[in-house]
Amino acid sequence: MPTANPQFSLKSSLLEPEGALHSFVVEAGDPFVFEILNGQTVRIVDLEGNQAVDTLFYNAMDYSDRYSAQDTIREQGNIYLTAGTKLLSTGGHVLLEIVADTCGRHDTLGGACAAESNMVRYDIGKRHMHACRQSFLKGIQQWNRGLSKSDLTSNINFFMNVPVTPEGKLTFEDGVSDAGKYVELKAAMDVLMVVSNCPQLNNPCNGYNPTPVQILIWDKYV
Ligand SMILES: [Zn+2]
Repeated sequence: MPTANPQFSLKSSLLEPEGALHSFVVEAGDPFVFEILNGQTVRIVDLEGNQAVDTLFYNAMDYSDRYSAQDTIREQGNIYLTAGTKLLSTGGHVLLEIVADTCGRHDTLGGACAAESNMVRYDIGKRHMHACRQSFLKGIQQWNRGLSKSDLTSNINFFMNVPVTPEGKLTFEDGVSDAGKYVELKAAMDVLMVVSNCPQLNNPCNGYNPTPVQILIWDKYV
């Protein structure tokens, strides 16, 4: 069972789920694509705990202007994402800001899992296993507005714990999230959110048991 880490600064939200404009449940391994309008707030809830939620964001008016891990990390001077983080685009725009976070740590270094990385990291026999990049592709194909494989660039892994060691090594650790923990973001422009609720079974990012998440969206006037 993950325990709260005292070095994380946690921030709760005042928004009530009953007041949400939309509520979706994304099953383990499924994609989810939705536009979040300027001023709206989106919450991702880790319903059962220890679930990685791989997410891409795009400027809804120009998909070539999309979330940039490098710019976000450089501007905040920190490799982990949490409340107060502004998610920057490749064009230097603030796409969204994390306004509440009861988990305390989200990764943007580890990338999204793929059939290729599963083979390299784990075993050639893992090639057939469902991975986030396939879910992203399925999601953008269903969205059908011109996004393609080449648009799958840097992503966020919400609730995923990828600590960097003093030697600079990346490690995929057991999750720090737990059932009911959430992260909430307020859109600073119209953005397209593309989620893969991660199906990974070869490392502890999902506790070896992928589970559903909830996505709630509040309108800008609440
Ligand atoms: Zn994944």
